[in-house]
Amino acid sequence: MYDLIILGGGPAGAAAGVYAARKKIKTLLIAENFGGQAVIAAEIKNFIGFKSISGIEMAKRLEEHVRDQESIEIKNGRKATSITKQDNFFIVKTDKDETFETKAVLLTLGSSPKKLKVDGEEKFEGKGVFYCSTCDAPLMKNKIAAVVGGGNSGFYAVLDLLPYASKIYVLEYGDSFRADPVYIDQAKQSGKIEFITMAAIREIFGDNFVKGLKYQDRNSEEIKELKIEGIFVSIGYQANSDLVKNLAEINQNGKVIVDCKTQKTTCEGIWAAGDVSDVLYNQINIAIGDAIKAVLNIYQHLKSQS
Ligand SMILES: Cc1cc2nc3c(=O)[nH]c(=O)nc-3n(C[C@H](O)[C@H](O)[C@H](O)COP(=O)(O)OP(=O)(O)OC[C@H]3O[C@@H](n4cnc5c(N)ncnc54)[C@H](O)[C@@H]3O)c2cc1C
Repeated sequence: MYDLIILGGGPAGAAAGVYAARKKIKTLLIAENFGGQAVIAAEIKNFIGFKSISGIEMAKRLEEHVRDQESIEIKNGRKATSITKQDNFFIVKTDKDETFETKAVLLTLGSSPKKLKVDGEEKFEGKGVFYCSTCDAPLMKNKIAAVVGGGNSGFYAVLDLLPYASKIYVLEYGDSFRADPVYIDQAKQSGKIEFITMAAIREIFGDNFVKGLKYQDRNSEEIKELKIEGIFVSIGYQANSDLVKNLAEINQNGKVIVDCKTQKTTCEGIWAAGDVSDVLYNQINIAIGDAIKAVLNIYQHLKSQS
């Protein structure tokens, strides 16, 4: 039986691991990967202590720091698939058929890109449907691409695609683009972008690879078709809170509700920190601080139980 299982290896999970080791809490950290969502960022300029660091380098340093803690057990490269409460302890299962018991759980599961949930999206994932422009924009060399989402993340994707794609459609569900004007101006200047508003994506089609998409013009209700070779979905992120949806209270945005002094969820024995929680700002430094707060509170809790 562990005292604590930390779920997630992003900034919050790594910080929690280091602090749990310093408090000599018997801890297991389970993570799909180290670094979390910002691993795809070309440059992070506000991670305190680093004037500039790439997402990959940050991930490496987070992992090194956690692995340097002798007393932490790490199970990397696996996904937690369920958490169940049993009297006063929890059972955590993973996709590698492992089962672990723990007195406390800290969720640092972060968030993942939102999906369009239309026909063809799943079928063509990685075969023309992409969620990370930093990673996959070079695949669009001399090709026609579409970006779905007219907020800042959509325009970041446009800027990543500009050096490669021959033409870029930007499709927005609403009647205007919400990105910062500076990004919109930069995109307009390129001369190779077609902006489409009031567009509801209905289908992605192709054979081995994406060949096109269908969208509904929300003004005329007409279904229109675009011939494209890649689609970059940039419609925001959603918290990875599914694991506790039957245990703890989740807000209308899918985030786990926490008490901001202690990071306790509404389920006794489960804490949450970082982007999976209903924290107001999704930032690396904040995720780290909140995770540390959680571990210090978990330490007090475990001491009071022994
Ligand atoms: C492209 C991009 C650029 C960004 N740039 C900045 C920036 O410059 N500055 C800044 O402050 N913030 C930035 N952010 C936001 C920042 O990345 C997040 O606020 C931060 O990563 C939150 O950390 P976290 O540990 O809570 O979650 P995450 O980083 O999302 O980490 C979650 C972890 O949980 C793991 N996980 C998820 N589900 C499971 C499961 N079932 N089982 C096991 N493990 C699981 C994931 O693999 C991952 O390791 C950026 C985000 C993106 C997407």
